Amino acid sequence: MTITGSCHCGATRFELETPPQSVTACTCTYCSKTGALWAYYTPGEVKFTTLASDGLYAPNLNRHHFCAVCGCTTFGESPTWSLDGTADFSRPKLAVNARLLQDFDLAAVPVATIDGRNLW
Ligand SMILES: [Zn+2]
Repeated sequence: MTITGSCHCGATRFELETPPQSVTACTCTYCSKTGALWAYYTPGEVKFTTLASDGLYAPNLNRHHFCAVCGCTTFGESPTWSLDGTADFSRPKLAVNARLLQDFDLAAVPVATIDGRNLW
C-alpha cells in the first residue's frame, strides 16, 4: 500500500511503501519549534516525486529540509544517532514529517518522545 505525503502547496511530494508504525517527537531546539512528528526510513524507502522548491537548513550534522514556498517542514537527513551521542554515518536515516501524510490516521500511531535537547 503506497502512502503519499506532501507539503501544503505540493512542491514537495513523496511516497512511502510502508506506513509508519510509530512516530517520534524530538525535544531538540529545532524540532520543538517545528512541531514535526518524525517517521524514520532508510533513504531508499522514500521516493520523492517532486522536490521543486526544496530548502535546506543544516546548522549541524542534521540536514533539515523544508518547502521554500509554503514553509512546511518536510524531511530530515541524518546519521543514525545512538543514545550515547555517537553518530553512525554508515547508516544514514531519512526522517519524513508524518504530519504531511495524506489519508493516514496519525492519531492512531504511538508517539515516542526522544529527549534530543539533552542527548545531543
Ligand atoms: Zn510547499
